[in-house]
Amino acid sequence: MVYHGAVPSVELHQDLRHAVRDLCKAFPDGYWRGLDAARAYPDAFVKALTDAGYLAALIPETYGGSGLGIGEASIILEEINHSGGNAGACHAQMYTMGTLLRHGSDVQKREYLPKIASGELRLQAFGVTEPTTGSDTTQLKTTATRNGDRYIVRGQKVWISRAEHSDLLLLVARTTPIEQVKKRTEGLSVLLIDLREAVGRGLTIRPIRTMMNHATTELFFDDLEVPASTLIGEEGQGFRYLLDGLNAERILIAAECVGDGRWFIERSTRYAKERVVFNRPIGQNQGVQFPIARAHVNVEAADLMRIRAADMFDRGEVCGSEANMAKLLAADASWEAANVAVQTHGGFGFAEDYDIERKFRETRLYQVAPISTNLILAYVAEHVLGLPRSY
Ligand SMILES: Cc1cc2nc3c(=O)[nH]c(=O)nc-3n(C[C@H](O)[C@H](O)[C@H](O)COP(=O)(O)OP(=O)(O)OC[C@H]3O[C@@H](n4cnc5c(N)ncnc54)[C@H](O)[C@@H]3O)c2cc1C
Repeated sequence: MVYHGAVPSVELHQDLRHAVRDLCKAFPDGYWRGLDAARAYPDAFVKALTDAGYLAALIPETYGGSGLGIGEASIILEEINHSGGNAGACHAQMYTMGTLLRHGSDVQKREYLPKIASGELRLQAFGVTEPTTGSDTTQLKTTATRNGDRYIVRGQKVWISRAEHSDLLLLVARTTPIEQVKKRTEGLSVLLIDLREAVGRGLTIRPIRTMMNHATTELFFDDLEVPASTLIGEEGQGFRYLLDGLNAERILIAAECVGDGRWFIERSTRYAKERVVFNRPIGQNQGVQFPIARAHVNVEAADLMRIRAADMFDRGEVCGSEANMAKLLAADASWEAANVAVQTHGGFGFAEDYDIERKFRETRLYQVAPISTNLILAYVAEHVLGLPRSY
């Protein structure tokens, strides 16, 4: 079912939740478990999601999308994780697309957005992080040097997820050397690179095997030539464009964590009722039920911040602190719920067939990516509380 219309309402949300849950039923635990063991990409799931129009939720109707808000988009991702799946396989299409939508030229939007909405083109890869500079984004070393009607891209990226499963890459590179700009946030630019043409012609993609199934990679740019028309917006303004998209990313990931948290709590509750030891369900013991209850409280509290951030975002209000706080609270709550689920399941928490250990590994990522908890605390300390910048 494809959703149209931008009016958010509780009813629509309920409809949307049920529709996403129905789609996810075709991809049960065993599907995700099998992919996890093989470290394989969920092609069939992503295709079903695309065909149903969900990955085009944020693309305006004029470009073939559903024109929904971040609130609805976040519900789609939440319900995927709540079903036991992993929206990390495809979530980037929602937030990377925003940079193109807000800052791309009319020609670029007409060229790409309808094809992304229909699934003809996949925009799943977002290239920011580098091995030597990490969280210190403005110091990134990859350069894109203008040469006539081309850019020559040179450098290296790390942890660029889904690059092998995407047609397009949104790349952040330095177009003016840092020594030549007044502020270190200047001189960065965003390029929309066609991976189908780049691979083997200056771009090498090398997969990185990680503790969870995340299709992440390293990218090596060795004088890759791309047309100057791949530039999004104005040259040198890329950092601003990047920041614009980050609030959306934080809110969407917060919703995934809420979905994870609910999944862990439901599984823990069910198991605690069923498992009988010492002639009583283990969930009758306060030592077992209180941690589950506390994790539930924390997931629900995090959800409120996520809803507030999403509402503010959709009203066009400044929501940097709410988006960051939602991401931190939700990541902490899902991680707490994951730990509780392992403990509640005893030995079975470690058994692959129960999926707890898989989801435990998957949700752990959000303490580190796309922004680590410490960096959010540093943001809140500086920008909300007015404390001196610590880094
Ligand atoms: C599976 C996976 C997928 C990813 N996908 C993508 C992707 O698609 N695209 C992309 O661009 N990136 C991606 N990333 C990268 C991710 O955004 C970074 O890992 C994250 O931003 C942290 O950067 P780093 O790993 O370099 O850690 P570092 O910056 O080296 O930090 C290491 C630790 O030190 C702490 N730290 C650093 N500086 C400070 C400070 N000043 N104060 C307090 N603590 C500090 C951090 O909080 C962190 O815990 C992904 C990462 C992973 C693991």
